[in-house]
Amino acid sequence: MTKICVPIAGDDMLSALELAHKAIAGGADLVEIRADLIPGATPDSIGQMFGTVLGRSVITLRSRSEGGGSDLIGNERSSWIRAALELPAAYIDLEIDTDSGLIPEAKRLEKKIIVSKHFFDEWDEGLVSDYLTRCCEDGSIGKVAARVESVVDAIDLLKLIPKIGYDNHALMAMGTGAEITRAIANAVGSSVVFCALDSGKQVAPGQLDLRSQKRVTGDNSVIVGLIGHPLHHSLSPVMHNAAFDALGIPGIYLPFDIPNPEMVDSFLRDCADLKLRGMNVTIPYKEVAFRSVDEIEGDAQRVGAINTIVIDGQGGLHGYNTDIFGFSEAVRISGFDPSGKRTLIVGAGGAARAAVLALDKLGAEISIANRTPERAVSLISDIEVNARTIAIADLTDSEPFSFIVNATPVGMTGFGGSAAIPGELVAEAEAVMDMIYNPLETRLISDARSHGKQAISGLDMLLFQGAKAFELWTGKRAPIDIMREALKKEVSG
Ligand code: NAP
Repeated sequence: MTKICVPIAGDDMLSALELAHKAIAGGADLVEIRADLIPGATPDSIGQMFGTVLGRSVITLRSRSEGGGSDLIGNERSSWIRAALELPAAYIDLEIDTDSGLIPEAKRLEKKIIVSKHFFDEWDEGLVSDYLTRCCEDGSIGKVAARVESVVDAIDLLKLIPKIGYDNHALMAMGTGAEITRAIANAVGSSVVFCALDSGKQVAPGQLDLRSQKRVTGDNSVIVGLIGHPLHHSLSPVMHNAAFDALGIPGIYLPFDIPNPEMVDSFLRDCADLKLRGMNVTIPYKEVAFRSVDEIEGDAQRVGAINTIVIDGQGGLHGYNTDIFGFSEAVRISGFDPSGKRTLIVGAGGAARAAVLALDKLGAEISIANRTPERAVSLISDIEVNARTIAIADLTDSEPFSFIVNATPVGMTGFGGSAAIPGELVAEAEAVMDMIYNPLETRLISDARSHGKQAISGLDMLLFQGAKAFELWTGKRAPIDIMREALKKEVSG
């Protein structure tokens, strides 16, 4: 089983010791005393103060050239490390480029050593493989960490592991998209994985927090994520991670920002090879993902869009559209019954498609208005529903609608554009739904409320599409109340 190690830095030795105790109490197998990041940390002071914790410690004096804070070089550094080798620590970290002369001494003293190398600039597979092999040959554990720009690079890094032929490796990514290498550490046989004591306290970008790391460092972990670009701040991770936590499922939900569409297909195949459990898909990859999967569930096939992928045990990719369920549930719990009611949907993209199918099943009388009218026409013929189109310019003179749904990003934080839905229509409707959940209170929602109309925000749709995806991935009933609370906290925070 992979050992979980929490790096410890602090303002002084006392606070570092306190953090080390907290990490061990929180379930860490090891703590890494980052002597380069703790003022006053010397082999003497570490030996005196860390006492019983030493047996579960890695002592590291990370040099500037390897991304750390220590300026000691040459003999000064060697003397420091020689003194550290005398301590009864679990491991001492030796940097292969500067400390390899001390490896025979460590072996003579029968000390366990982590032989390490960090790449902050360009690296290629040959260079990383070569270093990882040497670190594994020389160390009790061979550790290589390499900076990545995306989750695609991080997965490329993981593919090197089977090629090196050692089982005492710890290969990890740092940077954007690096989390996957930490989440999957146990599954790829990593000897040790480094994580932060608390969320937001990472020593290296890409580390998980201890609680999440513990959840996924075991057998049968459920690793899922969201592919899209850009993924500024998705609400889905907090919702799903709260659900994993509440049900004690060894799972994690990660953001996977894929830089370009050509990478999506091979990324999905790599995820299947790495035994990830599934994926959500968002803008702009819904179409490309639709073409990449092996099988598409009936309603998703009908709307021509997927937002969820389930990866089966054989690596097969199955596409679903849980927005249909999310929309229906949001309407159902609002108490508004659209059956037989004149309903207007503004927008004809993926979300509108899901809403049209859901509303057709609920028996609504559907009209669709879209900026590009042809898209509304093809939506109707693709889904084969009984609906009509209406020009946005004609909305002002239109008969009232009982139910109005905004399925465009107009009104979303950071998105320009002006409302296509005339105020008079809002004033005459019975209920209004805005699929946007950021902000919760859009202009459309507050207009509807000010007219005393029923107003349904996008949050419940987000919640229920997520709950359905969670159930598809885990086979467990989603803890709706916990997921809703997590979402609300994130939105209001
Ligand atoms: P999409 O496939 O890109 O479609 C966007 C739609 O909005 C298109 O019909 C587009 O018209 C229209 N549009 C874009 N900019 C516009 C503007 N400035 N003025 C008028 N119309 C404009 O996106 P989507 O996946 O359907 O998502 C639409 C919205 O629903 C997004 O805000 C998304 O966040 C939200 N959503 C929410 C949930 C939830 O769970 N609550 C789920 C899915 C989506 P053209 O055809 O003319 O380009």
